[in-house]
Amino acid sequence: MYAYGEPKVCTKCKREFPATEQYYYRDKYQHCGWSCWCKKCKNATRDRWTRENAGHIRAYKRQWRQENRQHIIAQKRERRHRTKCHIIYKFNREARVNKAGEFTTDHWKALLRHYAPDGTCLCCGHKRELTVDHVIPLSLGGPNTVDNLQPLCQECNSAKYTRTADYRPDDGAFAKALADSLPHQLRLPLKIRPIQLELPLDEAA
Ligand SMILES: [Zn+2]
Ligand SMILES: [Zn+2]
Repeated sequence: MYAYGEPKVCTKCKREFPATEQYYYRDKYQHCGWSCWCKKCKNATRDRWTRENAGHIRAYKRQWRQENRQHIIAQKRERRHRTKCHIIYKFNREARVNKAGEFTTDHWKALLRHYAPDGTCLCCGHKRELTVDHVIPLSLGGPNTVDNLQPLCQECNSAKYTRTADYRPDDGAFAKALADSLPHQLRLPLKIRPIQLELPLDEAA
C-alpha cells in the first residue's frame, strides 16, 4: 500500500513520482489503488494504440452505427422531446412566479400542427427547428398561455427579442379557440411558506 503522496516508481519508465492524481491514475484492481504505470506512460501507450488502430476504430464505429441505427434515431428523438418539454417546463415555472398562466405540451403540439404543419417558421418561412415564441413577450406582461404563443425558429425568436409581433396568419384566432377548448394544467402555487411562530424568549432558551 502507498500512503497518499508517497513516492511510487512507474514500472514502465522506472521514474519515481508521488502517488497522487497528478501522476497516477486510480486503479481499483491494483491492491495499492494506483495504476502501475505513471500517467505519462499510460497516455503515451493509449495514444499510440489509438493512432495505430485508427482504421479499425473507424470501421468499428461505422459498423456499430449501422447495426444500431434504430437505437440512435430513438435516442435523438428522445433528446429532442426532452429539450422541448424542458423549455415548456421552464416557461411555466417562470410564469408561475408572475402568475402569468401556463400552457401544456398538448397545447404546443396542437399549435404546431395548425400553424406549422410542415415545420416552417411563421416569420421567415424556413424549415427549421421551431421554438416557443410569446407574441407579447413575458417581459412586457404578456400571458404564458397558448393564445399568446407562436412557433418561430430560433433566429427569428432571438431577432424579435422584446418586441410584440404577431406572425400568425389568423391573428391568433385558432390559438384563442385552443385556449378555451384544451384544459390547462393549473397547479397550485409552488410553496406556501409556513408561518414562523415566535416563541417567548424564556421558552426558547
Ligand atoms: Zn512512467
Ligand atoms: Zn424564422
